[in-house]
Amino acid sequence: PLYFDYCASTPLHPEVYEELMHSTKQFFANPSSVHDMGFEANVRVEEAREQISALLLVKPNEVVFTSGATESNNLAIQGVVRSWAKKTGQTPHVITTQIEHSSVYNCCKQLATEGIEVTFLPVARNGLVDVTTIEESMQPNTVLVSVMHVNNETGAIQPIQEIGKLLRNKPDIHFHVDGVQGFGKQSLLIEDIDLYTLSGHKIGGPKGIGLLIIKETVELTPLLYGGEQEHGIRPGTTNVPAVLSMAKAIELTLKNREETMRMLTTLHDLVYSKLEAIPGIIMNSAKPPMSSLHIINFSYTGKGITSAILIGILAKQGIIVSSQSACSSKAKASRVLMAMTHDEMISSSSIRLSLHESVSLKDAEYLIESIEKMVNHVKTKNKFELL
Ligand code: PLP
Repeated sequence: PLYFDYCASTPLHPEVYEELMHSTKQFFANPSSVHDMGFEANVRVEEAREQISALLLVKPNEVVFTSGATESNNLAIQGVVRSWAKKTGQTPHVITTQIEHSSVYNCCKQLATEGIEVTFLPVARNGLVDVTTIEESMQPNTVLVSVMHVNNETGAIQPIQEIGKLLRNKPDIHFHVDGVQGFGKQSLLIEDIDLYTLSGHKIGGPKGIGLLIIKETVELTPLLYGGEQEHGIRPGTTNVPAVLSMAKAIELTLKNREETMRMLTTLHDLVYSKLEAIPGIIMNSAKPPMSSLHIINFSYTGKGITSAILIGILAKQGIIVSSQSACSSKAKASRVLMAMTHDEMISSSSIRLSLHESVSLKDAEYLIESIEKMVNHVKTKNKFELL
């Protein structure tokens, strides 16, 4: 089968695989142990932290390793909100959007049930949040703005730099960015960002590892209580091989960025232009520069069938795609597309193609042919036959 679901997860980069194998064998000791083997593992972890901090232009003590982006997002949001509430005894207010990944969205929903004020900002048809709505939503008790960089369903690139500028002179409001899908695809200075989330397995690294950049100025309550690891912000035995592999994945992603972008531009232009020309296809992703090159989302509303059936028709031709994020694939209509289109049909018949630099043009051509066949199949069969 041909895999076009690189947003859900990427294969390990061969060099990351080598690092993972080597360090799993070599550095199994607990890096918090005081003996030589523990010390050596700890040295490697701190080297990885320094390498990452130099690449991301932050300080080493601002890099906190977690189990993945879901944890990083929860730590950022709950951490800031709970710390401020405890310190001030007041009810905090959070500003976010309706199109965040479920690890941000559901975390904010949960906080709302606990009495914390949350504003979920709407987005335009192109998936972008209007920066002026952020400014208009600010209240004296606003402690956090959380907006993702690149949307994982549509590829829409949010105006992070502008939001950062808006918040620059408001030191009481922290800015959190889920950078998972933008990293290595879009350049982004995290200068004006206080909290920044990354995940290993979206960039050729292993699963179960992520990080949260926490700038020195941010006060944050941990999610877990335990040992002193990660300055006590994230206790638990450090996953040494995963940390070293994540550092490698970040290094390679940035090193290969130009080449990756070149490949993705060719692939994206081919797939997008051919898809757009298929009668009945509704494009949900805007064109670059508004949307990232690696994600193309479209709907096909013919016969009123849903994404699951379209995915099944493509699967029979050996094409692997998804509709929504893997974390919310059980929901019928996509929350993200509903926020953009307010159209139930479009939102429940979407397909997300996600590309990778390793995809060949031949495979991309086959993908298009398969989608054309899928459309013809739906057109020529009655609904009963399709189900
Ligand atoms: N944020 C975004 C934008 C994502 O695409 C994902 C992946 O599904 C996550 C967060 C969660 O990442 P992880 O699998 O590391 O928890």
